[in-house]
Amino acid sequence: MSSVTKTRKPVQPVRGVCRWVILPIPVRDFESGVLAINGTEYVVTLPADRSGARLTKPGGEQYHVDLDGRRCDCPDAVYRPREGGCKHFKAVAAAVGRLPAARLLLGTARDRRHNPECFGPAAEDDGHGHDAADAL
Ligand SMILES: [Zn+2]
Repeated sequence: MSSVTKTRKPVQPVRGVCRWVILPIPVRDFESGVLAINGTEYVVTLPADRSGARLTKPGGEQYHVDLDGRRCDCPDAVYRPREGGCKHFKAVAAAVGRLPAARLLLGTARDRRHNPECFGPAAEDDGHGHDAADAL
């Protein structure tokens, strides 16, 4: 039979499939989308510079991927470091790399904001004029 060693079996590099279920859209200063990694759909939040990502599993558990530092804080990455990183790191790196560059523009999110709409009773003094205080 095969020889038995006392050392642990080397951890194999991860492989799998990831795809955007919902492409990231600008939300305030972030982008948010849904990425399926090996069939699990994560809500992915990317900072404007896309230097990392926060992944939220369907159950609410969150992992933080640091693309620049090539790290993830999931148990697999912490306790079973693999060559090339865990599936979250690899998937985010691959998926973010395929995003259109135009979405990088932080200004895009701001430009898409609509002008404010007023609601409620109209204010008599908007704080800029002092007509009401002129009578002395
Ligand atoms: Zn991970």
